[in-house]
Amino acid sequence: MQTLTIYNSLTNKKEIFKPLKEGYVGMYVCGPTVYSNVHLGNVRTFMSFDMIYRYFLHLGYKVRYVRNITDAGHLTDDSDEDKISTKARLEKLEPMEIVQRYTVDFHQILQKFNLIPPSIEPTATGHIVEQIEAIKTILENGLAYEVNGSVYFDVLKYNETENYGILSKRKIEDAIENTRVLEGQSDKKNPQDFALWKKAEPKHIQRWDSPWGIGFPGWHLECTVMSTKYLGEQFDIHGGGMDLKFPHHECEIAQSQACNHVAPVKYWMHGNMLTMNGKKMSKSTGNNILPNEIFTGDNKNISKAYTASVVRFFMMQAHYRSILDFSDDAILASEKGYNRLMEAVNLINNLKPSSSSSIDIKKWKQQCYDAMNDDFNTPILIANLFEGVKFINLINDGKESLTIEDLNKFKTTIDTFVYDVLGLENNADGADNSNKLGGVVEILLQLRKEARENKDWALSDRIRDELIALGIQLKDGKEGTTFSVG
Ligand code: AMP
Ligand code: ZN
Repeated sequence: MQTLTIYNSLTNKKEIFKPLKEGYVGMYVCGPTVYSNVHLGNVRTFMSFDMIYRYFLHLGYKVRYVRNITDAGHLTDDSDEDKISTKARLEKLEPMEIVQRYTVDFHQILQKFNLIPPSIEPTATGHIVEQIEAIKTILENGLAYEVNGSVYFDVLKYNETENYGILSKRKIEDAIENTRVLEGQSDKKNPQDFALWKKAEPKHIQRWDSPWGIGFPGWHLECTVMSTKYLGEQFDIHGGGMDLKFPHHECEIAQSQACNHVAPVKYWMHGNMLTMNGKKMSKSTGNNILPNEIFTGDNKNISKAYTASVVRFFMMQAHYRSILDFSDDAILASEKGYNRLMEAVNLINNLKPSSSSSIDIKKWKQQCYDAMNDDFNTPILIANLFEGVKFINLINDGKESLTIEDLNKFKTTIDTFVYDVLGLENNADGADNSNKLGGVVEILLQLRKEARENKDWALSDRIRDELIALGIQLKDGKEGTTFSVG
């Protein structure tokens, strides 16, 4: 087994990954709030965790990957308005129509980007009973209080024995100093307290009965309840975007501790933001690009359409913990790189083995693993894959050689990292049919070979010239003719 290190946002250090149970990984990632279409920034976070999921699977772990759907309870900033109910009211639709519309969109988009679905995709509305039970436990443990039909988590009381700020490294004293208490504006004892259950005002559409009256659960609670229900009171990995670290994940830790008296998560992982024009992509500011706009080219920030695989390659060229800025120039450059990689991958099956190897494939293969083992460093992995592209071209030109065993090892490693781990699909230049095209060109090359054997030079030249006219270059060599699409 490879030794994998993970940057743990709880300790701010890279740590060797040791699962709680040998051979198994439990991973929870916060899913989308389904009240509008996912933008490319959201996709980045889910894609990063898809790559992480894929690598664990490749290493042979049995992974239970839970990613939720937030379909209730997510309040707009600090108001009492929850995003889904508000949208349903404005559009005069059932909240579940809003939820259905954007859940379907989310699934379709992620499928286009070749994300593997999680093992379990629980919804907040499907776990109201469990959330009510968790609130009862926190109340019994003296770490929450009921006011006026709502229940709040008592952050100051919790902080007497535990550390509220353990993840975000925020000091509660600073928060208290910086908060203005607006008299009469809140039922909370302290502004730092957060809602476990909110009383539903008459205009609030999503509502459930509870021991505290009609209301709805607070957003942070669903993740605590669903992660521990499916992964246990303690589990290996919890992920999400950086912006969720505080308050969402800090609150999750506090709630779990308050219910189960243990720290819920061994490794906290946070993906960095996708920006555009230097600013975070976000739904609320309008500074975002939707996946469908990329596929059609219909957005003022891009000059043309790009395929999902090119976008995926663009994302994988950055480390998941680095900020990535989306721009037309950057994605154009990625498209060139992606095409170069896939052309080489297409050529690999044409390579002929030799009696000896002039390249140390074992060493190169380990370098690919080393990159991924170093906190999933996909840009370094891709640099190694381009080293592989160089090898492919040199072998094809007869300047380097590999034995049949090394050639097979080389092909498998390329396939593993390009398809299984990075999750790329082979449609260089946007054509899904590149493999079929390859087959057709092979037939023409065979006909040309037969024409030459029959000394039918007119026909052989015509096949060559017409292929060249289509941008398909032929290269005659000792081992036969190869081609490239230029
Ligand atoms: P939301 O639907 O707003 O709860 O967001 C779903 C996921 O997308 C969360 O993990 C966020 O952290 C993540 N996210 C939101 N904006 C961005 C962004 N600009 N770049 C990367 N991830 C983002
Ligand atoms: Zn969450």
